[in-house]
Amino acid sequence: MSFLTHLECPRCSKRYSTKEVHNLCECGSTLFARYDLKRTSGTVSPQALKSRAPDLWRYREVLPVESDESIISLGEGFTPLIHARRLGDRLGLPNLYLKDESQNPTGSFKARGMAVAVSKAHELGIRRLAVPSAGNAGGAMAAYAAKAGMEAAIFMPEGTPLANRLECALHGAKTTVVAGSIKDCGRVMRESLAGGDWFDLSTLREPYRLEGKKTMAYEVFEQLDGRLPDAMIYPTGGGTGLIGMWKAFDEMQELGWISQRRPRMFSVQAQGCAPMVRAFAAGSVVAEEWEDPQTLASGLRVPAAIGDFLILRAVRTSRGTVLAVSDADMLGAVREIAETEGMITSPEGAATLTGLKKLLADGFLGGHESVVLFLTATGYKYTEALEQLV
Ligand SMILES: *Cc1c(COP(=O)(O)O)cnc(C)c1O
Ligand SMILES: [Zn+2]
Repeated sequence: MSFLTHLECPRCSKRYSTKEVHNLCECGSTLFARYDLKRTSGTVSPQALKSRAPDLWRYREVLPVESDESIISLGEGFTPLIHARRLGDRLGLPNLYLKDESQNPTGSFKARGMAVAVSKAHELGIRRLAVPSAGNAGGAMAAYAAKAGMEAAIFMPEGTPLANRLECALHGAKTTVVAGSIKDCGRVMRESLAGGDWFDLSTLREPYRLEGKKTMAYEVFEQLDGRLPDAMIYPTGGGTGLIGMWKAFDEMQELGWISQRRPRMFSVQAQGCAPMVRAFAAGSVVAEEWEDPQTLASGLRVPAAIGDFLILRAVRTSRGTVLAVSDADMLGAVREIAETEGMITSPEGAATLTGLKKLLADGFLGGHESVVLFLTATGYKYTEALEQLV
């Protein structure tokens, strides 16, 4: 069962009830789900988790869905953490790991967030879901909405990969293609659905997608036998996964599972859309919108993130950094991972390898440090972008 207690604003600390439907705090910040962690630590230990089913619902005490009947599951989570021996040898990093998120339903880690958010929406009696999506989030929402028997409306930018448009159409979602970026999609969505009873499932404008994505941190902890790695490299669009994992470390520390020591968090963006890189370099606490975002890594084409201050805070607190990589380097990295590790990953995931090489070259990382790269989606959804490699 869930030990959810309330929603809380990480900026102004205002609290809200979890029995009502909420999007943002009245101050404009995203809201965090809070749990009775004392009770959780008395009920469940890392040892006890071992006998649970291999999906993300094994962490149900720290997930927001109250009743097991509300869970809409396609088998998401508990993806393999693969020891990348050949790639690691090449880089002089014997402790390199790949979190293979392609094995989630719908082929990407967006399934984690959507499984939890759609289940919670279902529990709250919501019937109609809407989301702007650069690709994978829309597909995942469409799949879970179909499974739940809910209506789905998705707003995608022009140039979204065919696989994403197909999955939305096949799952019966109402799909609208919008000129511009995901930011424009959000605006068109809010205009066209205003006054209706559509629930906005935009990333971080809704509290529970983050909860689904935070489970990656719990899994890495379990899969490394109760330790956290020295560094994590995360391809950052809206930053939900990075913010979620940072929140999970807070929870694990309060549960007494980990000490104060955290992995250093490295965030990778595309050179053609790098608002966090610019803000980090300028020493700002928030990021300005990126004009004319361009990258074939559709999941990274996010010009403005509502959780900007949380991304920057986590990276700085962990003594990490933020880097930008080119599309050409991402494609090269897709090939390198395919040749050395037998996995076809998406350009976003491959960007973490390019980021890692820069970090090694600049002396940020090296030797026996353990590093986890998040390979966030399958490459099979990106045939248009990858065609130039053959
Ligand atoms: C959405 C997405 C990302 C970015 O994830 P955030 O948590 O929103 O930063 C990275 N990779 C892929 C494949 C995605 O679909
Ligand atoms: Zn607030």
